[in-house]
Amino acid sequence: MSEVNAAHEVDHAHRAHAMLSASSAHRWLECPPSVRLSEQFADQPTVFSEEGTYLHELCELKLHRFLGDVAPDILEAQFRAHKDNDFYSEEAEAVTDEYVQFCVETIEAVRASCPDPLILVEHRLDYSEIVPDGFGTGDLLIVGDGVLEIIDFKGGRGVRVEADRNPQLMLYALAGLLEFDPLYDIRTIRMSIVQPRLNNTSSYEITPDALLSWAQNEVAPAAILALEGKGEYKAGEHCRFCKARHTCRKRSEYYMELARRDFKEADLLTDEEIADILPMAQNLAKWVEDLMAYATAQAEKGKTWPGYKLVASVTKRKYTNDADVIRVCTEAGYTNIYKTSLLGISDLEKAIGKKAFQEIVGPYVFKPEGTPELVPLSDRRKPISSAETDFAE
Ligand code: SF4
Repeated sequence: MSEVNAAHEVDHAHRAHAMLSASSAHRWLECPPSVRLSEQFADQPTVFSEEGTYLHELCELKLHRFLGDVAPDILEAQFRAHKDNDFYSEEAEAVTDEYVQFCVETIEAVRASCPDPLILVEHRLDYSEIVPDGFGTGDLLIVGDGVLEIIDFKGGRGVRVEADRNPQLMLYALAGLLEFDPLYDIRTIRMSIVQPRLNNTSSYEITPDALLSWAQNEVAPAAILALEGKGEYKAGEHCRFCKARHTCRKRSEYYMELARRDFKEADLLTDEEIADILPMAQNLAKWVEDLMAYATAQAEKGKTWPGYKLVASVTKRKYTNDADVIRVCTEAGYTNIYKTSLLGISDLEKAIGKKAFQEIVGPYVFKPEGTPELVPLSDRRKPISSAETDFAE
C-alpha cells in the first residue's frame, strides 16, 4: 500500500486524455476513422460530464479516507470543498458510498489471500505497447498474488454499462497486466463496473492469454487504422458519444436506411417488420434528438434553417425568492401558504439512521412493480411474464 501523501489533490477535470483513449475505445474499435473525423469538433463539456467528474472526485476522496494514504487534514479540507459544490447532495453521497463499499469488499477479499496487495487509486495506465500513445486512468486497481482487479465507477443514469467484454476496462486491464505481471504473476483478471444509479454492478473475468490475444488481433490493427484515418465507418450505438455524431454522413445513412426499408405491400406492418424496426427505433430517436440539438445550437449562433425559427421554450412560473413570498403573504395575514409532507425515503433514512429506519419503517416500505418496458434481450433484467403467457401456463 502507498505511503501517506501530504500534498494530494484530486483534480479530474484537468487530467490528460489520449487520442485513442480507453474511454472511447468502444467507438474507435468499431469505427476507426471516427478518431480523425472528430478532430475538427471541440470538446463540449456538458452538465452530465461535469457531474461525472465531480462524483469521481468524491469516490477518490472516500477511497483515500478508507486507505488512510492521504494526510487527514488535507483530505478533510478537500471534503469540505466538495460539499460546498452545486453537485453535492445526499444522493451524491449515497451513490459514491455504494461504489466505495464495493471497492472495500473487493479489497478485503483480495487481502484474505494476499495480506499486502498493491492498491492504486486513480492510477495512470499505459497501454502504448499495443496502442501508440495509449493511456488512461483507472479508478481503482488492486494487485494481489496472481490477481488483478479493476473497478470502475459510472455515475450515469441514462445508459447501462456492463463489464462483459467492456473495451475500456479491457484496455485498463491490459495496461495493468503489462505493468504488474512481471512482479505478481497474474493469472486472473477481474473487471467490475459499479453504476449505482441504475442499480447495476457487473463483473467480468478474462485470462491474461485471452486479453493479450484480443489486444494483438483486434486492438492493435484498429489503432493503426484510427491513427491513419483509415478503415470503414460503421454506425451504431457507439456513435452516442462521437463528436461527429450530429452531422456524420454514415450515421445519417444508417438511420435513413430505416425509412427506405422495402416493406411488404400491406396496410398494416407485420410482426416481423415491427421486430425488424425495434432494435433501430431507440437509436433513431437519439439521432433525431442529436440532429435537433445541433441545428438549435447553430441557430443560436445566427444560422437560419428554412421553415424553422428560434423561439423561447415554454416555462413554468417561479418565485424569485421563497423568503420574500413568505414575508409578504404573512404580512398580508395569510396563513394557508404552507403544505407539509413526509420526508422522502433516503432523507428519512438519513434523519433517523439506517438501523432505526429498518426496524421502525422497514415493514412499511415496498418497491412497486415497474411498468412493462420492452428492452433488447441483452438487457440483464429478468423478463416478466405477460398476461397471455400466464394464461397459457
Ligand atoms: S458518428 Fe458513428 S459512424 Fe460517424 S464517425 Fe462517429 S462513430 Fe463513426
